Amino acid sequence: MSQNLIVAKFGGTSVADFAAMNRSADVVLSNPDVRLVVLSASAGVTNLLVALAEGQPLEQRAALLDDIRRIQYAILDELKQSQVIREEIDRMLDNIATLAEGAALATSAALTDELVSHGELMSTLLFVEILREREVTAQWFDVRKVMRTTDRFGRAEPEVATLAELAAAQLKPRIAEALIVTQGFIGSEEKGRTTTLGRGGSDYTAALLGEALHAGRVDIWTDVPGIYTTDPRVVPAAKRIDVITFEEASEMATFGAKILHPATLLPAVRSDIPVFVGSSKDPSAGGTMVSNKTENPPLFRALALRRKQTLLTLTSLNMLHARGFLAEVFNILARHNISVDLITTSEVSVALTLDTTGSTSTGDSLLTQALLTELSSLCRVEVEENLALVAIIGNELSKACGVGKDVFSVLEPFSLRLICYGASSYNLCFLVPGQDAEQVVQALHRNLFE
Ligand code: ADP
Ligand code: ASP
Ligand code: MG
Repeated sequence: MSQNLIVAKFGGTSVADFAAMNRSADVVLSNPDVRLVVLSASAGVTNLLVALAEGQPLEQRAALLDDIRRIQYAILDELKQSQVIREEIDRMLDNIATLAEGAALATSAALTDELVSHGELMSTLLFVEILREREVTAQWFDVRKVMRTTDRFGRAEPEVATLAELAAAQLKPRIAEALIVTQGFIGSEEKGRTTTLGRGGSDYTAALLGEALHAGRVDIWTDVPGIYTTDPRVVPAAKRIDVITFEEASEMATFGAKILHPATLLPAVRSDIPVFVGSSKDPSAGGTMVSNKTENPPLFRALALRRKQTLLTLTSLNMLHARGFLAEVFNILARHNISVDLITTSEVSVALTLDTTGSTSTGDSLLTQALLTELSSLCRVEVEENLALVAIIGNELSKACGVGKDVFSVLEPFSLRLICYGASSYNLCFLVPGQDAEQVVQALHRNLFE
């Protein structure tokens, strides 16, 4: 495919209603290199579908379904010839009702994915119709034909080689003929059952399709004009970063910056595809370019915040001068499919947080009773919930002088529960009580960036 091909992704707020969809259509049409459009569900719809998938009594089901119908009908009703797809949307809504009834009887991860996929299926149908009414040759494409994943429902992993083959055979020829509109977030496993890539996964879809089609760039259109030094909702004085490296942006995404799904940059780095982030509300405001190089990388680049962290402290007197305790702990965690995020150790104890990156579509807790029971047979286990992880992202952090003073001098009023520094030169992170998190980020931002 041409090096000029751009894959453009629009998030939930960019397809929230008729006006937002039209602004996004303007963005698409302003650049003839955009040949593939990837959409999220209209804002709010995925949350409503997740609630239905949890299994609801009849009355709640009806109310949730009404909310979904209202969001989609509001767009449908603005179309000049809405009858063209009203039937299709109604069929989807009927499907949702039937699946939600099933979920009320018995929930399952596979059923959840099937249900939540309808958000993206509907938003893409509506968007194609908006483009057609603007006389654009646009085609709806079911991404599940090419987005092959594992069957880990709720948090499926893409099978990159198969995706590349399928995309070359089925998507590439279509792109030559029409503007293609497809779904983010969803995929299908070998047997054809619908899967999802985890909440916020549409960014990842766009990057994966960009890689599969050898695109020249991936554009992520959202509700903020770029990647900021921290979430502008938490710190209004946050500044836009015009150019950032893959490494820096990946660290931000991994440590909780919601602007990009944590896995988004994996395919981009692998295939060296620049990623642009901008606002569909204000495309002329510019945005952030993520690529493999920047001029003069700064010592401090950004702050990220990840809430709802769980800290496990494992203590065993047998650990004193003993060997193999940590190996045993990691074995148990691996058997329970859990990867460790932060870790610190002392002579007789180890404290660690569980990696919740790219959490499942329903946000299930990783900490199961079976895991606790097994750990308890080995050592004393303490669990602390509601902590927040604050990450300082930068360059050569572990080599520079004075980093500790710059960071910790402003944290005097707060209690720090755990500190990780030194393993990576790109970050310094620590845990604070959840209720202090925003104040900590504000204080740090003032000191390091304002
Ligand atoms: P979309 O639905 O378009 O995917 P998201 O809500 O997932 O949008 O991501 C955009 C949001 O990410 C912004 O509204 C902002 O509040 C948040 N955000 C978090 N960290 C940052 C950051 N460093 N820079 C910009 N936005 C950020
Ligand atoms: N619609 C999905 C979600 O809300 C995927 C996405 O928006 O990226 O998580
Ligand atoms: Mg998002």
